[in-house]
Amino acid sequence: MPENLMACPVCGEEVVEFFAHAYDKEYFTSDEKYTYVRCPTCTSVYLHEPPADRLDFIYPPNYYSYGHVEDSTALTERVKRRLDRRMLRKVFDSIPGDNLRVLDVGGGSGWSLTVAREACDRVAETHEVDLQEAAAALAEKAGHVYHCGPIEEFHSDDKFDLIMMMSIIEHVPDPAKVMGRMRDLLSDNGILLIKTPNTDTLDARIFRNRNWGGLHCPRHFVLFTERGLGMLGDKCGLRMVDSYYTQGAPQWAIGVMGLMHDRRLIKMTPERPAYQHPVYEPLTALFAAFDFARAPFAPTAQMMVSFSRS
Ligand SMILES: [Zn+2]
Repeated sequence: MPENLMACPVCGEEVVEFFAHAYDKEYFTSDEKYTYVRCPTCTSVYLHEPPADRLDFIYPPNYYSYGHVEDSTALTERVKRRLDRRMLRKVFDSIPGDNLRVLDVGGGSGWSLTVAREACDRVAETHEVDLQEAAAALAEKAGHVYHCGPIEEFHSDDKFDLIMMMSIIEHVPDPAKVMGRMRDLLSDNGILLIKTPNTDTLDARIFRNRNWGGLHCPRHFVLFTERGLGMLGDKCGLRMVDSYYTQGAPQWAIGVMGLMHDRRLIKMTPERPAYQHPVYEPLTALFAAFDFARAPFAPTAQMMVSFSRS
């Protein structure tokens, strides 16, 4: 274990504790042992010395979100689209005004923006910020404005009424910097919607030392609980207005598949990573059903949190 654990990137706490070791058992980019740390003050779990300067290395060319084009006829895709539309409709109900401007961060070809446009006919402009050059043409074809580059460097004179960060905040080395940037981009009555894993959950406890899927090791740099994310919002001038748990099936499935791989029940390789393995789909379907049933009563590994300017 490293002698000096890195201070908490969320609250700055220096007296932190070891959380777990983990390996990249999804894409096998290396056999490096990574160290995760937990902050007792804000409850964040984070990667000690995250490989932020080795993104090309830790995101291989077959990374699942690269070049992913949704198949609008597939059943899971149709279900997801319907659920997301319903969820976004509720969010838009709380945002006043016409000619709404929507920003999606890290959503590639703009699938979420298209769903947002379907969910509310007051949406006038849709913008995407992402690092993937290859996604630009698809996003533009769907009618979205595409800004290629890191979110930390994105500037706009206009404010946004809805900003979506779906499964992104956990990938950045300095979440406070990104949240502060989002606050600056938010209109007075705007909503920042964040989807991110939650570490205060049954599967995180079961798979803590067995490559819990929420770690997405080593690609998730900082992970939160609802309380910790609220504290980060407070620090960045954002007030939590709503939060709920939703299904975290991949977090379960990756943990289970790691165990199966270790016991030689299945074989994953860099060429056939977890997400392309045939057991991934049935496992996620099973755990999605389990999480949907328990989400109203118990925290799951995925949370949806809304913020407004405080
Ligand atoms: Zn902290």
